[in-house]
Amino acid sequence: MNFCSQCGGRVGLRVPPGDTLPRYVCNACGTVHYENPKLIVGCIPEWENRILLCRRAIEPRHGLWTVPAGFLENGETLAAGAMRETLEEANARVEIIDLYAVYNIPHISQVYMLFRARLLDLGFAPGDETLETQLFTEEEVPWSALAFATVRNTLGHYFADRRARAFRLRMGTIEPMKPSAPAPHETGQADENTPAATDSGRTLDNGAAGG
Ligand SMILES: [Zn+2]
Repeated sequence: MNFCSQCGGRVGLRVPPGDTLPRYVCNACGTVHYENPKLIVGCIPEWENRILLCRRAIEPRHGLWTVPAGFLENGETLAAGAMRETLEEANARVEIIDLYAVYNIPHISQVYMLFRARLLDLGFAPGDETLETQLFTEEEVPWSALAFATVRNTLGHYFADRRARAFRLRMGTIEPMKPSAPAPHETGQADENTPAATDSGRTLDNGAAGG
């Protein structure tokens, strides 16, 4: 940030009085511009024993598969945002079942919140940001071509929970991959942009979803 959105003056990064973290503060009008994490909401749309995935038509991870998800808008509830993103990316109408996965990604200041959802009909089709939409069984999921660690982890847990007939909320944290660390998963997508992942509590699996 270089300029104040209130008055157009220059901003500087400093700790305001009474605060503990550096903020962008306007040198002219004194407005403090707080920046906070962004929420990403999405769905795992279910149809019988299959789930709906989207192949991305945009960067990052163009051409790779993901669940329909995107940034929550102001004034929107989590569930409404997840349904809107599912409609925009896959032209798919869903009803929300329950919150299923929460992933912190602190190094890029994002939090993912993904819902299980019931696909209401088979009239889905790619939206503007999607190359392809397709239903997959667990065996058919393109595990080596999933776009994000959050998606790999969530879908790994999802199919395991479904086999156990017991879904429970999954929480985890995606860490940036350290240069010296061994590859955290076997998907073949590992590079400096592919973060390692840890899940909380008993679900610690170092991100090897689908293995
Ligand atoms: Zn200002």
